[in-house]
Amino acid sequence: MKTLKFGGTSVANAANIQKCLSIILEKAKHDRLAVVVSAFSGVTDLLLQASEKAAAKDTGYRLLFQEIEGKHKTAIDELIPAVEQAEIIASVQSELQQLKTLLDGCYLLGERSPRTTDAIAGMGELISAQIIAKALQLQLPESNFKDSRELIVTDANYGKAQVNFETTNTLIKDYFSSSNQKVTLLPGFIARDKNNNTTTLGRGGSDYTAAIIANGIQANDLEIWTDVNGMFTANPKLVKQAQPIATISYQEAMELSHFGAKVLYPPTIQPVLKSQIPIWIKNTFEPDAEGTFICAHPEGVTNPIKGISHIDKIALVTLEGSGMIGVAGSSKRLFEVLSREQINVIFITQASSEHSICVGIQTQDASKAQTAINTEFALEIAQGKIDACQVETELCIVALVGENMKNHQGISGKMFSTLGKNNVNIRAIAQGASERNISVVINEKDVKKALNTLHERFFEDNLKQLNLFVMGVGNVGEKFLDQIHQQKKFLKENLKLNVRVVALANSKKMVFEEEGIALKDWKSALEQGVPADAKQFIANIKSLNLRNSIFVDNTANESVAMLYEHFLKESVAVVTCNKIACSSDYPHYRKLKDLSRQYNAPFLFETNVGAGLPIIDTLKHLIASGDKVHKIQAVLSGSLNFIFNNFSSTYSFHDVVKEAGIQGFTEPDPKIDLSGVDVARKILILIRESGYQMNMEAIDNRCFLPEACMQTTNNPDFFASLIQHEAHFNALLDEAKAKDCRIKFVAEFDQGKASVGLQFIPKEHPFYNLEGKDNIVLFYTDRYVDQPLLIKGAGAGAAVTASGIFADVIRIGNF
Ligand code: ADP
Ligand code: ASP
Ligand code: MG
Repeated sequence: MKTLKFGGTSVANAANIQKCLSIILEKAKHDRLAVVVSAFSGVTDLLLQASEKAAAKDTGYRLLFQEIEGKHKTAIDELIPAVEQAEIIASVQSELQQLKTLLDGCYLLGERSPRTTDAIAGMGELISAQIIAKALQLQLPESNFKDSRELIVTDANYGKAQVNFETTNTLIKDYFSSSNQKVTLLPGFIARDKNNNTTTLGRGGSDYTAAIIANGIQANDLEIWTDVNGMFTANPKLVKQAQPIATISYQEAMELSHFGAKVLYPPTIQPVLKSQIPIWIKNTFEPDAEGTFICAHPEGVTNPIKGISHIDKIALVTLEGSGMIGVAGSSKRLFEVLSREQINVIFITQASSEHSICVGIQTQDASKAQTAINTEFALEIAQGKIDACQVETELCIVALVGENMKNHQGISGKMFSTLGKNNVNIRAIAQGASERNISVVINEKDVKKALNTLHERFFEDNLKQLNLFVMGVGNVGEKFLDQIHQQKKFLKENLKLNVRVVALANSKKMVFEEEGIALKDWKSALEQGVPADAKQFIANIKSLNLRNSIFVDNTANESVAMLYEHFLKESVAVVTCNKIACSSDYPHYRKLKDLSRQYNAPFLFETNVGAGLPIIDTLKHLIASGDKVHKIQAVLSGSLNFIFNNFSSTYSFHDVVKEAGIQGFTEPDPKIDLSGVDVARKILILIRESGYQMNMEAIDNRCFLPEACMQTTNNPDFFASLIQHEAHFNALLDEAKAKDCRIKFVAEFDQGKASVGLQFIPKEHPFYNLEGKDNIVLFYTDRYVDQPLLIKGAGAGAAVTASGIFADVIRIGNF
């Protein structure tokens, strides 16, 4: 014989019930079956709500009753031909009438006892099973309905009754050996106490009913038919990448379900464990999918972790104080109080000093637990030996489960570092003595991030997801998005990085898409976005709370630079080509670097100097390895280099500057380049990264622009002023020619002093042959004394800057 169980969604409506019937009919060709069904999806919740309302003297219960009545009548109409309906309508009517009487009773009395609540809650299964049995009988006459209350006997612990297995097993065995039906349909969830009052087996308890029946008839196997393809590596509703587990041991399944894998009600394993009746978890809506096989010794399993599960709405109750040290029995008393109050303890840790003990319970039990514990320890609390018990709520437990974990080292280390990198604060830790699970208590708001990042770490072949929030889609931003789009596949296959752009914004619009914006169409996605709003942008990042989040600033905007600290404080990494933050006043620069360290959030700005050239990264390595920078000489403006390399007697200064702008070699405001401010910012950043404390005012900027050009306030006026002062620029050119030199805009740092300005460079100098928009930096350090360390290459342009940003993003990916 086989036992099958169909859950709430599987029997949610007539169409779904037909799917169940086909599965039952197919199986019945080969085996005798006991089939357990749940209430129609949502009905148990409706029943409980109705009884709660009635007991609170809220007439709204009547509407809920009508809803329940309607659901069942519709199912009858759709499943059973009119001519066959009379009998089933009569019996369903009689159950509904009884339900109505119970609800009216609660309303009149203004209360509901646990016994009444069970009688009401169990109605869902009682009615659904009769309807389904009738529909089945029409297709398979050798089938019947059997009320589980006649077979399963429990104590009177209403809401979660304990089964009397001795009596129950005998009743089940006797019934099925005397019955000759091919299929017997039974309601899940309900049972009776010795006084024949209806009891229930706990929410989700139909799985348990099926296991009790399977054990009673010593079935060949137990099949739990539900709405997913098995037991998954994590809750598939929260972790998109979760996969069904092919095989799993009883203990592991029990552990996963105990820690929240709702697909299986935790007590279900226990009745079938002893006789080793295997369990299949199958999908009613995809019957051909393999499903999960639960047995004593699963084969062919390599991953030490089988699954990750979580329980939300947890409260931590902590009892601490010097009075607990060395005093035998404190923990015994604590657990006795909790047991007396029927409070289920899900999680326990004790500090090794015995100074404190901490238990995790459901939030709904928290205040009851607090009162009871404080009463129990009232004397010690009054004497100041123990502190009044503390309760923290809005927590959840996340557990890694796997039988093989005990044979592998370092799993907890990996777990904690993965959570730590994502700024998930761990409140408490426990490892089961069996070493079959490691569980941590974290804030409820972090649960999705924690599950996904752990899943990525332990199951996804180390594929790491990077979530980018990008501001600025100008020259650089556009190239950056193109590069990500182009390289997506490569990154996934070769670097195991899955890079998604979750948000895009320019000064007018912003768009968020948690699953990642389709990059081939980003322009229209942005156009259809909502008005840009920095506050909202930050709030969205915060509420999405995604793992490996990176804010990318492709703007040159001061207000954007001022947002970084908000991101870093949320452990969101910052990658920027915008120089404003790092060249702002020293305390602000320092603060950003400190926040980055404190919140474990990388802050990378390689493109601030030399676009895509690895200048800052090299400098960081020099410093980290103990070297000291004494002197820096550099040509850091690709734009000025381009301008002075092309400026000639036949190509006017104004025209060259214009061309540099068109080719994307200048800042949007070219005066920032020509005034030397941009170069001053760059040398300042190099000086700071070399470990010196300096501000902009300390840099001697020997500006070559005439005062009138500097006075302009917009681009057209600025360009006009360049024409007006053509003679000034031509004079510079003539002087260079006369000296047989080339003009370079040089930044220098030496002996603690910094300057930027034009220099006439002779032929033998390494700067002389600097072509196009190239940059060059010479670092003179303790180790590079005579010959400086030289870095040279293209130092401006949207494509190289974008690739520098890209490289920073990848650096974070490998972090
Ligand atoms: P049924 O009504 O069939 O008893 P449940 O709703 O009780 O179904 O259980 C199935 C649900 O359990 C799935 O839809 C899924 O959302 C949830 N679930 C939570 N954790 C897991 C997991 N690890 N594997 C599979 N499902 C899970
Ligand atoms: N109908 C019950 C519940 O919703 C039992 C079950 O579906 O397993 O809890
Ligand atoms: Mg269930």
